[in-house]
Amino acid sequence: MRIRTLAVGLLAGGLLLTACGKEGTPASGGDQGGPSSAAAPLPTYPVASNVDLPDSPVFAKIKAAGKLVVGVKDDQPGLGQKDPTTGQYAGFDIEIAKLIAAGLGYAPDKITYKVVDSGAREQAIQNGDVNYMVGTYTINDKRKQLVSFAGPYYQAGQDLLVRKDDDTITGPQSLKGKKVCSVTGSTPIQRVRQQQLTEPGNIVEFQKYSQCVEKLSTKDVDAVTTDDAILRGFAKQDPESFKVVGKPFSQEPYGIGLDKNDKVLRDKMDDILQKALDDGTWQKIYDATLGTPGSTVAKPTIQKY
Ligand code: GLU
Repeated sequence: MRIRTLAVGLLAGGLLLTACGKEGTPASGGDQGGPSSAAAPLPTYPVASNVDLPDSPVFAKIKAAGKLVVGVKDDQPGLGQKDPTTGQYAGFDIEIAKLIAAGLGYAPDKITYKVVDSGAREQAIQNGDVNYMVGTYTINDKRKQLVSFAGPYYQAGQDLLVRKDDDTITGPQSLKGKKVCSVTGSTPIQRVRQQQLTEPGNIVEFQKYSQCVEKLSTKDVDAVTTDDAILRGFAKQDPESFKVVGKPFSQEPYGIGLDKNDKVLRDKMDDILQKALDDGTWQKIYDATLGTPGSTVAKPTIQKY
């Protein structure tokens, strides 16, 4: 009996090892951050009852519909990614979207996710196509003229993803003469242009970061530039092919984008985020998505305005 139990145990262990090997993501997590195969369990969020925000036009719309539409990304591992087989969304941003919904009185099954890429975010919010946007969305003054932001709920920084065997790109100053890819309407592509990090003819632009990563693997571009959190997710997915340079050269505070005129809802979202930061929920979300065992992260400071 004992021997049989042991054999079953060994078999299970063997299967587990095989599974890990296939994934190419060792449980130790390495130093790249990104989603971990040994990730902590996801927290659940108590759904608030009797929420009333009388002067919030967006909340009135949500209430009338009985459900929410949240703008997200679908190709950013660890942050906002859609599983093509199950259709499920997962990642840090998705959890923040659920946390906010719960704080507003809506369970996760009341959320409809709508994919909104970087260049379409302001328009989607202004049109009312989404109630709010959680998608690696940097808070800045230019965007604040069009939309408003709750948060920040995470602090990222612009970095570079290169091929594993490329030792020529060591930071933003080594991009001259290199083909650099980023996404339309993103802060990183604007920075590449403004700071002339490479020649205009060497800047390659797509709608989605996964398209840039594809071009990096086929050697059509030499670097992908955007936030370190996004790039770590791609590197983690294919550590044999890619690495993150790891010297962030900007501040990218992530905010929840929403209607510019809905201060009531923004204040409410800030309160929900603040509570999650104070009671350990935010940390649990981080540990279960972007975190790696043993890694630490600085908590963001909510900036009410
Ligand atoms: N955080 C940056 C931005 O908001 C880059 C990531 C993205 O494109 O979503 O533009």
